[in-house]
Amino acid sequence: MELSFSDWQDHAAALSFRTQAFIDGQFVDALSGKTFATINPATGEEIAQIAECDAADIDHAVKAARAAFEDGRWSRMEPGARKAVMLKLADLIRENLVELALLDSLDMGKPVTDAATVDVPGSAHFFQWYAEAIDKLYDEVAPTAAGDLALVRRVPLGVVGAVVPWNFPLDMATWKSAPALAAGNSVVLKPAEQSPLSALRLAELAQEAGIPDGVFNVVPGFGATAGKALGLHMDVDCLAFTGSTFVGKKFMEYSGQSNLKQVWPETGGKSPNIIFADCEDLEAAADMAAFGIFFNGGQVCSANSRLYVERSIQDRFLELMKTRAEALKPGNPLDPATKLGAIVDEKQTQSIMARIEAAADTSRLVSGGERVTLEGTGCFVTPTIFGDVAQDDPIATDEVFGPVLAVIPFDSEDEVIAMANDSIYGLAASVWTDNLSRALRVSERLNVGTVSVNTVDALSAQTPFGGMKQSGFGRDLSLHSLDKYTALKTTWIKYKL
Ligand code: NAD
Repeated sequence: MELSFSDWQDHAAALSFRTQAFIDGQFVDALSGKTFATINPATGEEIAQIAECDAADIDHAVKAARAAFEDGRWSRMEPGARKAVMLKLADLIRENLVELALLDSLDMGKPVTDAATVDVPGSAHFFQWYAEAIDKLYDEVAPTAAGDLALVRRVPLGVVGAVVPWNFPLDMATWKSAPALAAGNSVVLKPAEQSPLSALRLAELAQEAGIPDGVFNVVPGFGATAGKALGLHMDVDCLAFTGSTFVGKKFMEYSGQSNLKQVWPETGGKSPNIIFADCEDLEAAADMAAFGIFFNGGQVCSANSRLYVERSIQDRFLELMKTRAEALKPGNPLDPATKLGAIVDEKQTQSIMARIEAAADTSRLVSGGERVTLEGTGCFVTPTIFGDVAQDDPIATDEVFGPVLAVIPFDSEDEVIAMANDSIYGLAASVWTDNLSRALRVSERLNVGTVSVNTVDALSAQTPFGGMKQSGFGRDLSLHSLDKYTALKTTWIKYKL
């Protein structure tokens, strides 16, 4: 499907938005009647007023989710039937691709073609993948003595709370909801306040697909009110979180202060990308290094924001990176030619610019470093590269969550492994080399959840995604994510011999 700039603009103009919370199968106002604005960061214009849920609405949603779980309308539905419903949802996501892509693009500024080719197809694929898994998962019989039969089964937990960020709104909602629903749970999802629109539409599509009322609820609102209330709720069994490390720690506290719910944090990152001089295709490495930091405006948890380049190729590689950064101009997210869209909001834009300004005093600005506007408005930052960065400079240690790359030279394998591991984060890393032994040796020693060799950000439904250290310990995707949403239950039966 190829849509032109004006096609996308026409579709955008014709959109209507779901603005109320979705609880127990119905769109409802917040009980307080309050609303908040969701803003298009490319234009600064308000898109819609959204129901501002707080603790009372969270309680309403959790009660609905609990009732649905207990009466078994979904949790005890025959696996093949649950599979059929989730496959239908995957189809509906595909059928509504244009609308869903626009909702995410308008809400948080990403290029609509990225949303249409990556985010929305990804969401459909993940729903399909977990749907197909539902009737293929077998449980265990333990090796006990004669006269004893011990069944070890995976059972759904009950009510799963999911709190997600704005960088991939539909996908983050899917990464949590699809496996949680596949396992038979009820879900209460709180989307980020910057990007609630696609999650609300997803709820409607889920209902159309046949997800029973109360099983999938979406409660938009702010973190400190709605998010916190979900974290503290006494009847939520599990809280799956993606977002900042700071808030991930808060959810651990909320759990301790309430009912010891399981908390699965997937948090920040400062992922190293290591280019060895024995990498033969430096052009390809530069293409992917640029993609690794500038895709989605660098607003990616696993963004390759630290680039370690072997000193002998540093000048050449920096030149390759500079060419790529300068070719990438921020543009209107609805223009199919745009590869770099808007930053999510004014606050994030100011935070990125403050970090750029501080780094300009300590490191060499190679490219970018500017805030720009389109037709005099919007939140846009040019692709930015700093060279000669010190390992302990804040631009090399702190997550910027923007299109900002810190380049650091190295001289030896041991040195770069030590520098790459010298971080509070451990989400992902990339290694570029044509020496297979080195690729394996270095990969083994990097303390991260995913190492990509001769690529960046390798990711699929079939492989777990998540981190080590302060990047959190939850794993999304793959069958392993079902571990988060199920408990092991033993049923021990004595029989007469
Ligand atoms: P954030 O932590 O500020 O917000 C994430 C979610 O938490 C939002 O829904 C927000 O409303 C809620 N929240 C905020 N404060 C809260 C509080 N006090 N109590 C309860 N809930 C609260 O993060 P963000 O700025 O939206 O997203 C960017 C962050 O997400 C980055 O750090 C990024 O690395 C991380 N991220 C991680 C992954 C991963 O899989 N590891 C993926 C994407 C993004």
